Amino acid sequence: MSGPPYMPWFNQGKMAQITIVGAGIVGMATASMLSHHHKVTVVARNLPGDKPSIEWASPWAGVSFIAGGCSSPAEAKMQLDAFAELWRWSDVYPESSIKKIPIEDFHDDKTEEDIWWKDYMPEFRFLPPESLPKGAKLGTAYKSLILNPDIFLPWLRQRLEGTGVQFKRMTLTSLSEARSLGHDVLINATGFGSLTLNDVRDQSVELIRGQTMLVKSNYDKLFMRDTGDTYTYVIPRLDGTAVLGGTRHKGSVDPNPDLDLCQDIVNRVNKNLPSHFSNNLQDYQIVRHNVGIRPSRVNGIRVEREVKDGQKIVHAYGVAGGGYIFSFGIARAARDLVEGYLFPHHPAKL
Ligand SMILES: Cc1cc2nc3c(=O)[nH]c(=O)nc-3n(C[C@H](O)[C@H](O)[C@H](O)COP(=O)(O)OP(=O)(O)OC[C@H]3O[C@@H](n4cnc5c(N)ncnc54)[C@H](O)[C@@H]3O)c2cc1C
Repeated sequence: MSGPPYMPWFNQGKMAQITIVGAGIVGMATASMLSHHHKVTVVARNLPGDKPSIEWASPWAGVSFIAGGCSSPAEAKMQLDAFAELWRWSDVYPESSIKKIPIEDFHDDKTEEDIWWKDYMPEFRFLPPESLPKGAKLGTAYKSLILNPDIFLPWLRQRLEGTGVQFKRMTLTSLSEARSLGHDVLINATGFGSLTLNDVRDQSVELIRGQTMLVKSNYDKLFMRDTGDTYTYVIPRLDGTAVLGGTRHKGSVDPNPDLDLCQDIVNRVNKNLPSHFSNNLQDYQIVRHNVGIRPSRVNGIRVEREVKDGQKIVHAYGVAGGGYIFSFGIARAARDLVEGYLFPHHPAKL
């Protein structure tokens, strides 16, 4: 028997109500995907426009798009989806701060076969061995993207509010506490909040402290060197400043910058780019220290449905050091799961 597709919300002329817990890049990108067809409310303890705080990760990011670092083909797809959307936005919304930029990315522990993104990144090429920094085994170059979260997050919030998305400040101790909001589906985009929410308590969530320095610099190319043990980068903001990093420390949540780590960062940056960056901290005009906690997860990103206490939930967290790199990709995957709840008998979902 044929008939109209099963779309109860559309057929009744009303939109489904979606609550997103979390206003970091994952929650915001997901709101952007869902707000075309649904009524979306974002609730969070920390909101774009707030002063950066150690309580969330998104304001502290570089931000650069450096491909790789996926634990599954599904994650690789999310990266590519996000890249395509951010690339498009860099053309359509220059005020978002997203800019195209050339990148040189060096590896000490990879071969050409490991570089799965070589067929996808614009203008991708392997660099000749004689141009590699000492010790590096492989060099790649392509066209990538940067953005400034101080501009991007408030801009995206404003854009979403313009399309009817509501933002509410709210701190939850459990997801079930949100049931009174009366939504059809709840999205859990709380980052490392998923470690402490009473009815999530995901023990595979790991806190990875990162520290960078925003300094005055006119350097205009993205630089990345991954030795396997350490990774060193320069992310130009193309506004007379650049972010120097990086560090990865498990477990520590100290919000104060460690000056020994600053010295370690400039030593490594100087070693790789001696004609552009000094190894003497005194030579730098430091605009800001950034210390944030990356919401990592031992088993990789969680994008999953769960019905708990009668509440339809889509989990979307665990993006570690790649919240922006996965952004619209994880958002698209979450949107598909929402649609699966709303239209369970639609042929595409069978
Ligand atoms: C130094 C540094 C550099 C980085 N550089 C990059 C980069 O170049 N590129 C890149 O892609 N990524 C980078 N990252 C990683 C990136 O910042 C994170 O992956 C990303 O911000 C995670 O986003 P999220 O939305 O999952 O979580 P968050 O940004 O942490 O947002 C979580 C949201 O949930 C809310 N929340 C949590 N618990 C509760 C609760 N109980 N009740 C209500 N609300 C709650 C918070 O208030 C917040 O709104 C960097 C990170 C650091 C620290």
